[in-house]
Amino acid sequence: MLQRHAAISPAGAAAQAGANPGLLRTLWSMGETEATLLLVEDHRATRRFLADNLIADNFEVLEADTVRAARELMRTRYPDAAIVDLGLPDGDGLELIALARRSDGGAVDPDLPLLVLTGRTGELELLRGFRRGCDDYVAKPFSYPELHARIAALLRRTRRRPTARRLRVGALALDPLSRQAWLGEQPLSLSNKEFALLRMLAREPTRVFTREELLRAVWGIRSTEVATRTLDSHAARLRRKLLAGGVRLVVNVWGVGYRLMDGEPS
Ligand code: CA
Repeated sequence: MLQRHAAISPAGAAAQAGANPGLLRTLWSMGETEATLLLVEDHRATRRFLADNLIADNFEVLEADTVRAARELMRTRYPDAAIVDLGLPDGDGLELIALARRSDGGAVDPDLPLLVLTGRTGELELLRGFRRGCDDYVAKPFSYPELHARIAALLRRTRRRPTARRLRVGALALDPLSRQAWLGEQPLSLSNKEFALLRMLAREPTRVFTREELLRAVWGIRSTEVATRTLDSHAARLRRKLLAGGVRLVVNVWGVGYRLMDGEPS
């Protein structure tokens, strides 16, 4: 799986700081960003170009070069929108679009904004893309400012959508599209990472998720001592916020990881 996290800081800052850009990117990925975009493109130079520009524009970027990797990232990282190339080595980008649109709203949001970016420029191809459920279609060669404007417009529309599907566990409700969470009627104030962590745990409320799984899914990084401390401090903060709302959730299972709750949801 190919993926990269992005930075909340201007791309050039890493160079200015004279430090290892890869490392800085990882550190910055723990901050907050505009939105998380899934970029599915097998052409390396195009992917690099797009990722660099999107990161400089304050997006978190998840990269995939195959249908398989993209599918996995859709299920585990909850992107806010996806840019999808059609000709991929292990299949067609349209399969990804069909997969998202068929989703029951569990792991993959069926309303995920999807923009096709392709060299297939014929009208028939374009119509096929829209029939499969894409929201926008950009032909290569493309202009980055135009692509950026289209993505921004898609995200704006999504955020205005009033009927987002909510995930519920007992008194807890999560809205993946607006990244809002509530306890009963009370909205919770969560950071992006706290929300992503809560969403992951809420998918299977009584299962224990290992620290490795959570770090990979929420931060996209491997388990190290520093990473584990980051996870633990986010989990502790999340637990305190939920406790302040009157529920005991986010259970630390010593030596293993976390689960949302001990018993069945009431
Ligand atoms: Ca391609």
